Amino acid sequence: MRRWALSTCLTLFLVLVLALPALASPKVVVDGAALTFQVLPRVEQGTTLVPLRGIFESLGATVVWDGPTQTVKASKADTQIQLKIGSTTAYRNGQAVTLTVPGKVVNGSTLVPLRFVSEALGANVGWDGSTQTITITSTVSTPSGSTTTKIHFIDVGQGNAIYIELPNNVDILIDAGDVGYGSTVVNYLKSRNVDDIEILIATHPHADHIGGLPAVFAAYDVEIVVDSGVSHSTQAFTRYDTGVKDEGGTYQKAANQSWTFGSCKFEVLGPTTTHSDLNNASVITKLSCPGASFIFTGDAEADGEGAILHKVLDANILKVGHHGSRTSTSDAFLARVSPEVAVIMVGADNRYGHPHSETLAKLGAAGVKIYRTDFHGSVVISLTNQGYSVTTQRLASQPTVQPAPIQPTPVPSSDTTGSKININTASLDELQLITHIGQARAEEIIRLRPFRSLDDLSRVSGIGPSRLADIKAQSLAYAH
Ligand SMILES: [Zn+2]
Repeated sequence: MRRWALSTCLTLFLVLVLALPALASPKVVVDGAALTFQVLPRVEQGTTLVPLRGIFESLGATVVWDGPTQTVKASKADTQIQLKIGSTTAYRNGQAVTLTVPGKVVNGSTLVPLRFVSEALGANVGWDGSTQTITITSTVSTPSGSTTTKIHFIDVGQGNAIYIELPNNVDILIDAGDVGYGSTVVNYLKSRNVDDIEILIATHPHADHIGGLPAVFAAYDVEIVVDSGVSHSTQAFTRYDTGVKDEGGTYQKAANQSWTFGSCKFEVLGPTTTHSDLNNASVITKLSCPGASFIFTGDAEADGEGAILHKVLDANILKVGHHGSRTSTSDAFLARVSPEVAVIMVGADNRYGHPHSETLAKLGAAGVKIYRTDFHGSVVISLTNQGYSVTTQRLASQPTVQPAPIQPTPVPSSDTTGSKININTASLDELQLITHIGQARAEEIIRLRPFRSLDDLSRVSGIGPSRLADIKAQSLAYAH
């Protein structure tokens, strides 16, 4: 009902707006990056009104909306701003600031006079009439709040749950596993001190993706929920749908949305067409940050992937579609994404046989390094401006299947899997990163040291010419 009512309101609103004399909406560029908004900037009574949240967050501020008091609070470094909807008086560190027109809420977005941006946060504001462009430049470069950018592929067995941790307490969640994993996801978020969730993506209505979301709704305020717009006749979907309605945040059907958070951009790439198949209706998203870019596919299969091939897909990291099923990761899609790292979110010994060997072989042949939640547990990718590093909850207890060459990791880090392993000095755990080396062989290697060369590993029981060839092809181990 709520969705129906919302879309009706939206339609009425659009009709009203279109009936007015056409006014070009100004473009907004913050610190060199063009912003896109759900609600466009507009001119009213000679005053340019701009969406507060997108601009403030791009300037490094944290924005909190308090519904009951209709108040927006923003903070950046030691500046605190408070603005009540409908009032022409705002407060900056307790001092009154007068607005030319009051802040107002349009379709869930708070619009404020452009000048308030400069007055509140000390940013420089420029206007180019010929291009209808507002240019906003931050003058204070000290960021507030957290500065961490980490992408967490949370181990939820046969399911998906991805937490994107961006600077300034911006939190994005994609799916939350099956119903039994809701508390796992909530506890994981609590361990990362998540305060609220800015954007929640429910990729598609299958229980292994949305089952845990009611627990997330119960634990957190969620500002924006984006899903495929496709419903399903299961209890898991009904509970999720009720959760969305009770949450009271903004609901949006996937429609090429895009958000800019500091120097990172998060965008919805698909679906762009209607898919009758639930997996192919999965919301596909892309995160682009200075250190790395990611494609998150949900359970999209070849049709879902094929529908967005015209988009800019290249990314360093691919969340492999549908738990590594052979029906996903089509050749064309893999070629367009051209990832260095693939993350397969899959449960051990699942009844579907995921990940399929065809997918692993394909990724291996493309030289993609594979991380699997069934082997590695949760996988965390940390970003800096220069690159990324991968850490895993556990070292792989089984050798990953593909003899993929190790990609050079741009950032030196604690990632033991990103650097070479000297079989004469490596720890028991490190040795087990080498293909075909489990705990027993690792112990034997330590006992038999030193080794003159990799060929010398043939002294270890069970390592014959073919396993030795795999170990060499993996390019991870060396003897020194
Ligand atoms: Zn799934």
